[in-house]
Amino acid sequence: MNRKPTRKIQVANLAVGGDAEITVQSMTTANPLDIEASLTELRRLQTAGCQIIRMSIPSSEAAQNIRVFKKNMNIPLVADIHFNYKLALMAIESGADKIRINPGNIGEPKRVKEILSEAKKAHIPIRIGVNSGSLEKDLLQEYGHPTAEAMVASAERHLRICQENDFQDVIVALKSSDVSLMIAANRLFSAKYDYPLHLGVTEAGPFVQGTVKSSVGIGTLLAEGIGDTLRVSLTDDPVQEVRIGFEILKAFGLSKKGIKIVSCPTCGRAQVNVIGIVKELEERTRDIDKDLTVAVMGCIVNGPGEAREADFGVACGKGEALFFKRGEVIGKIGEDRILDTLLKTIEDWDTP
Ligand code: SF4
Repeated sequence: MNRKPTRKIQVANLAVGGDAEITVQSMTTANPLDIEASLTELRRLQTAGCQIIRMSIPSSEAAQNIRVFKKNMNIPLVADIHFNYKLALMAIESGADKIRINPGNIGEPKRVKEILSEAKKAHIPIRIGVNSGSLEKDLLQEYGHPTAEAMVASAERHLRICQENDFQDVIVALKSSDVSLMIAANRLFSAKYDYPLHLGVTEAGPFVQGTVKSSVGIGTLLAEGIGDTLRVSLTDDPVQEVRIGFEILKAFGLSKKGIKIVSCPTCGRAQVNVIGIVKELEERTRDIDKDLTVAVMGCIVNGPGEAREADFGVACGKGEALFFKRGEVIGKIGEDRILDTLLKTIEDWDTP
């Protein structure tokens, strides 16, 4: 995969863009005034491997709480702010690692200047977020409806303000709930600029629909080398967003988080409960960071081939399975020992 070159931007100790790994982000759902609930969510996201966490900062109290959140976490925190320049300044002062704000929405140029100047002093970037659902009225009039061109034109307005203030640490997102539009807007922007892109299908919906839409939208762009960081947006537990984000990256070999499971859909030939074994295996290995491919196959039609290609795996038969390790048959195991054998082998596995 040839990644489109972008400039590298530092978000606290994490780089976004350039040759930095593509990162997975999410956003908290707890009220930022509820410190305990927010901290619980931040910890869960951190445990799930989330690399950048965004929080809505709708009030000065929420902006003050950034200090508390920052003390209790060691991954970059992004303050999501709309319109209010005072909140942006407070968030920077409280230690936010990045501000998501659109300079064109702030109003007076001197206020914009102040925010950008404080962000520069604090060495933090901003993210410009264009959403097809909230494009400027005059752009909607000019283009008729939200188009990729209108979205890029909106991003350009905000970028121009940053450039006029000699502010270069900018990450850009062009999001839409319409997958094709999101893809087109990011392609167009990427062809013109080298700012790092934050990918996402916004308001993607509930778990299944949101996962599919995000995977198609983000995946299409990643396959073209576009995108430096991503957020899967789901009407669900944000931990699920992180899991799906890593699965998208894993599908392209761009992340090794969690083991890779090769398993068949099963059919009338299977005589072992492959679905049950694989569900349990996925659940129990979700947070294991090992570069490992494990095959669980229902029968000997395709089973031995896949199990041989994996690091290890099983090809099931009637009430038992052939166990393969590094391409060789190691022995036979009974159905009731398949899951435990796989889990123990994963636990003991040392990737060379
Ligand atoms: Fe069916 Fe065997 Fe293929 Fe699994 S591997 S889908 S059980 S034929």
